[in-house]
Amino acid sequence: MMTVEEFRKQAHKLVDWMADYYRHIEKFPVKARVNPGDIYRQLPEIPPEEGESMDSIFKDFEHIVLPGMTHWQSPNFFAYFPANSSYPSVLGEMLTATLAAQCMIWDTSPAAAELEEKVMNWLKQMIGLPQAWDGVIQDTASSATLVSLLTAREKYSRYQINQKGFAGFENFKIYCSTETHSSIEKAVKIAGFGSTNLVKVAVDAQLRLNPEALEKAIKNDLQAGQRPLAIVATLGTTGTTAIDPLNEIAEIAARYDLWLHVDAAFAGNALVLPEYRWMIEGIEQVDTFVFNPHKWMFTNFDCSAYFVKDRQALLRTMSILPEYLKTETTGRVNDYRDWGIALGRRFRALKLWFVIRNFGVEGIRQRFREHIRWASELEQSIAEQPDFEIMAPRTLNLVCFRYHPKKIRDEARLDALNEQLLHTLNASGRLFLTHTRVKGRYTLRMVTGQTYLQQSHVQRAWQFILEQARQLKQV
Ligand SMILES: *Cc1c(COP(=O)(O)O)cnc(C)c1O
Repeated sequence: MMTVEEFRKQAHKLVDWMADYYRHIEKFPVKARVNPGDIYRQLPEIPPEEGESMDSIFKDFEHIVLPGMTHWQSPNFFAYFPANSSYPSVLGEMLTATLAAQCMIWDTSPAAAELEEKVMNWLKQMIGLPQAWDGVIQDTASSATLVSLLTAREKYSRYQINQKGFAGFENFKIYCSTETHSSIEKAVKIAGFGSTNLVKVAVDAQLRLNPEALEKAIKNDLQAGQRPLAIVATLGTTGTTAIDPLNEIAEIAARYDLWLHVDAAFAGNALVLPEYRWMIEGIEQVDTFVFNPHKWMFTNFDCSAYFVKDRQALLRTMSILPEYLKTETTGRVNDYRDWGIALGRRFRALKLWFVIRNFGVEGIRQRFREHIRWASELEQSIAEQPDFEIMAPRTLNLVCFRYHPKKIRDEARLDALNEQLLHTLNASGRLFLTHTRVKGRYTLRMVTGQTYLQQSHVQRAWQFILEQARQLKQV
């Protein structure tokens, strides 16, 4: 077994490696260049019988594992949405791993529960949610959405389904848009509603949920004897960051007495900017809200912030109290195991606390504003090129575009050309982008949101895209 002195020595070495990694991160190909099985084949079939030295373990980390990693913290990472970390976040995470506390209830680490409560209250102020709401850290937005729909299910069935199952409560309907994230459908399945009871409402030209189509769908379902239960609105769709019109959706939720959940996984971060608060007009009518500091707010995965208006409904839905978990403080403190799915919980508030304190709220705002400005400049550069086109309106720091030489009119050929462009770009190792389809058309997505991104990275990336596109053999 490793001694504490050996641990000290190894830890110092690792910290040096970590700092060097971040300093030289741009030297690695952003997207891992490996084929399926490449890593697996290099690892022994059986676990070691005798303990091995850290030096030999670390050597394999560098030579086998690292080449198979995609470098999400590279400033040339423009793919998906970011999963940002930052120096203060890593430092907080090191302490979380060191304390290795199981923070299921207040009693198992009071500071973890109280710091979480405080930091959630900070976040609530930072993004302008109603002060009476309560927040809790979940592992992911997917879990938060599941918890929200379970709470809706229980509140509207008077907590009967938890007890007796669905008998007598069939035909609940859940509404979202056709652009909604796949985690909504997954939650609908797991919560037992059945995916055929998820109604995907049409979107407008800007890919936002169309409130008229929503109301029509609800009316039709009511006439057909179905039971409309909940609406999931998205602020910042994954494809194009479209913002569903919350105010109008909230009015419909009020009119038909429906549960309203907001999935703001990525774009919710931008609410720290007063100029984006228009996105949550109508928030008083909302029941639950989730956004991911682990996407844009410099806090390493996992850290998803879930806020609820009716904390009693959440607790009644999720709480369990076996004898061995009863304590003197039960009922007087926040026992967060009752606020989500898992019993066991990591001390996730610590890294978020480090981030908010070390950046400062204004520091976070400044970085976000730069990211958004660079996206707007990128959008302009793209729009100025006659052989490129913008494919969807930009709301934040995601630009959706494609290469479109004027002489090519055939849409299938354009799709193939852009797919070829994306693969060429990513194979270069110099940057990493992903794609979506906008109204059926193959579209490149470029998010300018990585923690240590600078303007020069965006400009160099765009020059490289231009160059590569014009060198493509036109299929
Ligand atoms: C990323 C994303 C999710 C899923 O987030 P997880 O935390 O990975 O579950 C859900 N909704 C939207 C809009 C997203 O962009």
